[in-house]
Amino acid sequence: MEAVIVVDMLVDFVRGKLATGREAAVIEPLRRLLSVARAAKSPVVYVGDAHLSHDFELRVWGEHAMRGSDGARIVAELAPERDDYLLEKRSYSAFFETGLDSLLRSREVDTVVLTGLHTHICIRHSAADAFFRGYRIVVPIDCVAAFTEAEQGSGLEYLHRIYGAELITGADMAQRLGSGC
Ligand code: ZN
Repeated sequence: MEAVIVVDMLVDFVRGKLATGREAAVIEPLRRLLSVARAAKSPVVYVGDAHLSHDFELRVWGEHAMRGSDGARIVAELAPERDDYLLEKRSYSAFFETGLDSLLRSREVDTVVLTGLHTHICIRHSAADAFFRGYRIVVPIDCVAAFTEAEQGSGLEYLHRIYGAELITGADMAQRLGSGC
């Protein structure tokens, strides 16, 4: 079973203080993938920053996606639907103290499809934790973004080389989920 994990598609990252202009390109391919995943009954799990005021990560980035703020809201185009799961995180990895691993195991997930932001930071750390826990990893390349083209390229290469992540398009991933294989 595959689960689609949507990391940090939040206002502060897409249109707010940490946006570079590259992030919004993810929205449409990801929206299409999520709609196929829901139809195929694959779990869709949103994991987004919801920072508290003394989180360690704020030393590096300053305040962003503060819990309960508008900046920590999921962008409207990707609004979660009824059967989706929503988890909050306070550091880079979608697995770090979020309950994601036990949720995935309860749904008999063996493959995580990592989407969202950013390829070289939170996607990378989430991939590391997925790898350590024995999950297969797929990264739809048009459903993730980094701050720069160079970071996107090196980020994807790292995911493939180090964690064996399969790199495909969002459309190919959707087709795979839709055909049930
Ligand atoms: Zn953060």
